[in-house]
Amino acid sequence: MEHVDAVVVGSGFGGAVAAYRLAEAGLSVVVLERGRPYPPGSFPRSPSELGQAFWDPREGLHGLFDVWSFRDCDSVVSSGLGGGSLIYANVLLRKEESWFVRDEPLPGGGHESWPVTRADLDPHYDVVERMIGATPYPLGHPGYDDTLKTLAMRDAAAELGLDWRLPPLAVSFAPSPGAEPGLGLPIVDPVYGNAHGVPRRTCRLCGECDIGCNDGAKNSLDHTYLAAARRNGADLRTLHEVRAIRPSVGGGYDVDYVEHMPRAENEDRPRRERWTGPHTISCDRLVLAAGTYGTTSLLLKNRARFPRLSEALGTRYSGNGDMLSFLLRAKDRTRTRPINASRGPVITSAIRLADGDEGRGAYIEDGGYPSFVDFLVEGASVGSELGRAARFLLERLRGIVTHDTNLSAEIAGLIGPGELSGSSLPLLGMGRDVPDGELRLRDGRLDVVWTAETSEEYFDRVRSTMRRISDVLGAEYADSPSWRRKRVMTVHPLGGAPMGRHPGEGVCDAYGEVFGHPGLYIADGAAMPGPVGANPALTIAALSDRMSTRILENRRTAALEVPRAKAAVPAWDAGSPGDPTSLWFVEEMRGSLAVGRSDPHSRMGTSEAGQFMFRLTITADDVQRFLTEPEHQARAEGWIEADMCGGRRPVTSGWFNLFVPGDSPDRREMRYRLHFWDSENRPRTLAGWKDVHHGPPTRLWLDTSTLYARLLEGHVEEGADDDAKAIAAGTLHILPTDLVKMLTTFRTAGPDGPSSLARFCGFFLGELWEIYRPRHGS
Ligand SMILES: Cc1cc2nc3c(=O)[nH]c(=O)nc-3n(C[C@H](O)[C@H](O)[C@H](O)COP(=O)(O)OP(=O)(O)OC[C@H]3O[C@@H](n4cnc5c(N)ncnc54)[C@H](O)[C@@H]3O)c2cc1C
Ligand code: SF4
Repeated sequence: MEHVDAVVVGSGFGGAVAAYRLAEAGLSVVVLERGRPYPPGSFPRSPSELGQAFWDPREGLHGLFDVWSFRDCDSVVSSGLGGGSLIYANVLLRKEESWFVRDEPLPGGGHESWPVTRADLDPHYDVVERMIGATPYPLGHPGYDDTLKTLAMRDAAAELGLDWRLPPLAVSFAPSPGAEPGLGLPIVDPVYGNAHGVPRRTCRLCGECDIGCNDGAKNSLDHTYLAAARRNGADLRTLHEVRAIRPSVGGGYDVDYVEHMPRAENEDRPRRERWTGPHTISCDRLVLAAGTYGTTSLLLKNRARFPRLSEALGTRYSGNGDMLSFLLRAKDRTRTRPINASRGPVITSAIRLADGDEGRGAYIEDGGYPSFVDFLVEGASVGSELGRAARFLLERLRGIVTHDTNLSAEIAGLIGPGELSGSSLPLLGMGRDVPDGELRLRDGRLDVVWTAETSEEYFDRVRSTMRRISDVLGAEYADSPSWRRKRVMTVHPLGGAPMGRHPGEGVCDAYGEVFGHPGLYIADGAAMPGPVGANPALTIAALSDRMSTRILENRRTAALEVPRAKAAVPAWDAGSPGDPTSLWFVEEMRGSLAVGRSDPHSRMGTSEAGQFMFRLTITADDVQRFLTEPEHQARAEGWIEADMCGGRRPVTSGWFNLFVPGDSPDRREMRYRLHFWDSENRPRTLAGWKDVHHGPPTRLWLDTSTLYARLLEGHVEEGADDDAKAIAAGTLHILPTDLVKMLTTFRTAGPDGPSSLARFCGFFLGELWEIYRPRHGS
């Protein structure tokens, strides 16, 4: 089977950044992208091309637009080399610092919590902006002053006292960075070359960004990150769709994919799915970047193969507050105010609404569209079209009578003055809606459960600001037709595999690594624990850059530490250099604690005893280090359950220490320290120890299966228990049936799986022998 260091699934913002960073560092990288490549000039334009430009391989369609219709919302994403960047509106805004909220309650329970801050992301925002070539719309330069929609937004904001700005856009207005902007000039190729070998030209303000830029003026990912990734050796495979993923035996991951074979042009064979495969590739690191819908459905469909996936899978879905409205027939006093929304890139400017008394924060941006849409807009205005047609016929009759053969004036009249299209503007809202939606499978198909209801206050704020913008521009305000049924169309779906501080909160950690599955990463919109608020692509890319830095740091640390640790380890360790091998197992203990007691050894009456249990996944991320360091410390993740704490509560941080030295040479302790929050949001610590000490071998089971435990107020660190207030104390036990279950849960991941497990067992048994072995004279 083919094996590489890293497989990246999807080539959008998360995938392209990861592919480049890992390839640049020398890893062998394969990118599997389901869609096609789109060189400049190949984006569909004619009605027949546009009719085929959808993604539904079962119907033989392998096009650019992947359109979803769920019960209460609709959505569009992209399929192609470069993902959403092929059809996005180029805006690269950073997420506001105060929008990285912590523990913000959600209406149906739970919290929105970002485990990263703006300061964490700023260096990565810088890098991505540079690489993609983000630059504001060059308003003020000759040739760019006639973008009337930009000026209209600026004027409206000034009159309303709103914060207006020109956001960075991923568009080449100039032939090279720092050069003078100009329309339709040849673009100088970057150092990593031209991805498609087709010349690119600077932006000519045609408004076609959302149906693909045929000039190559958009700095989409195929022209930037993916071209650089390929230059560094990444293998970019298009029309390769991933269908299944699973942990490999012995560490790493296996990925099953099919290769699509699109219908040839004009081929009249029936539409049906055509593909080869499935083929399998294995890898040490698997980066899921198939977008919110792609990544979440892959995880949901393969959930049984990842038994330790968090319950948070599918949660925190939101549409990033997307809201489309229209401003129609703008007027300057009594005259039509020209706006000409089809001139300029799709978005040029943004009005920012801060979080505050008026509600959750948002952006409102000017929308644009290709000029052929102007004709559709005029055509949709049926009354005036019929009137113009009638006038045209009358004029023609008169022309026949007077032998007038020049049709120009009549045709101009038939087309009309274009007042409606020339003085109207789509307004695009987005911001901090409530991320309480859920992605799930229904009959094997992805489904979204999300309504605009819980975000109504947010949507009302955005709509009322749009209405005020309309008013000051003398225009009529119109909601999008679907808003009448409270349906939202989102182009920014987020969530589904959110990041969190622990598995009770998220599927992956703040670096995108999936809890309980080392080497499996989520790098795309699915990892967002809530709305980005601003257009999300830059934040997704910056998080992927941060994730990649972490992957590479871990790789370097492991490479440096293995030889050092090797020198210090006993003879049983012949660990091979390379990535660390991790080991984990699941342990369940149950028993009772007495409220009001602080000594777990004291006898308790049945009336004061309260049931207490926990289920933990104990993970040694690096078995080598775990065995050699004296504290033998591993991570403990999972939950506790007790009425005295308000039911089942996730462990937010947990540590386990195996056989740390006790107060005499023949004594060891197995320590557990679990931090969590009770149902009233009070911090709690369960501190427990198993006391393993010399005695007859018959003690062995009792010692290793009994945990003396104290429930403490606060999140108490090791060494501070005596100063903490005890709430309850008692003992927990492993039942023999739970022990049998536990023995079946031992797993390893990494290059050294079986021997790491053997070393772990050797250490465990060796310590027990050391403690319980018969002594001279005893
Ligand atoms: C019309 C429109 C305008 C937008 N404008 C903006 C904007 O101005 N600014 C902004 O920030 N955002 C904008 N967005 C949103 C932006 O495009 C997305 O937020 C962004 O692309 C998400 O990045 P991602 O990495 O999560 O996934 P994507 O970019 O969606 O990439 C996912 C990739 O994975 C591929 N894939 C899916 N499933 C599989 C599979 N099973 N196997 C292999 N490949 C798979 C897909 O084909 C796709 O290429 C816009 C979106 C649209 C539709
Ligand atoms: S306005 Fe036209 S030329 Fe400019 S980036 Fe958009 S699609 Fe390309």
